Amino acid sequence: MDFIIASTYDSYIDAHLAMGNLLSEDINCWLKDENTVTIDPVLTNAVGGIKLMVAAPQIGRALEILQQTKRQYQEQHPCPNCGSANVEYISTPKKASNWLGTFVSVVLNAGAPMAVKKVYHCFDCGFEFDDAVKKTE
Ligand SMILES: [Zn+2]
Repeated sequence: MDFIIASTYDSYIDAHLAMGNLLSEDINCWLKDENTVTIDPVLTNAVGGIKLMVAAPQIGRALEILQQTKRQYQEQHPCPNCGSANVEYISTPKKASNWLGTFVSVVLNAGAPMAVKKVYHCFDCGFEFDDAVKKTE
C-alpha cells in the first residue's frame, strides 16, 4: 500500500497526538523518522521532522481531520493582540539548544511539557506569545 505524508512535526508529543486522532477515526497511519527525531532532536531539521504517513486512499479524510483539529485548537488560542484565530504553535529555533532536557522529559515522562521553547505566532499581526501570557489590562 502507498503512504503519503499528511503532516510533519518537530515534536514527538504533537506527532503522537495527531496520529492518535487519526487512529481513532480508523485511518491507517504511522510515524516516519520518529526514532531519529526522538533520539537526537538536533537532527530534526536535517530529516524534516517526524512525518505522519497516511494510507493513500485515506489521505483526504485524514487531512480533513487534521484541519478540523487544528481549527479547534486555534479557536481555543486566539491572538491576545488582535483576536485572530490565524495562530500557529511554532518552535523558536534560537531556543532549541536545550535538546537534552527535551530528550530526558520525553524518555522519562511523555506527558511532561517540552523543554524546547515554543510560542504561538499570529499570522495576521505577527504577535508572538505563549499560553502563560495574560492580558495585563
Ligand atoms: Zn494577532
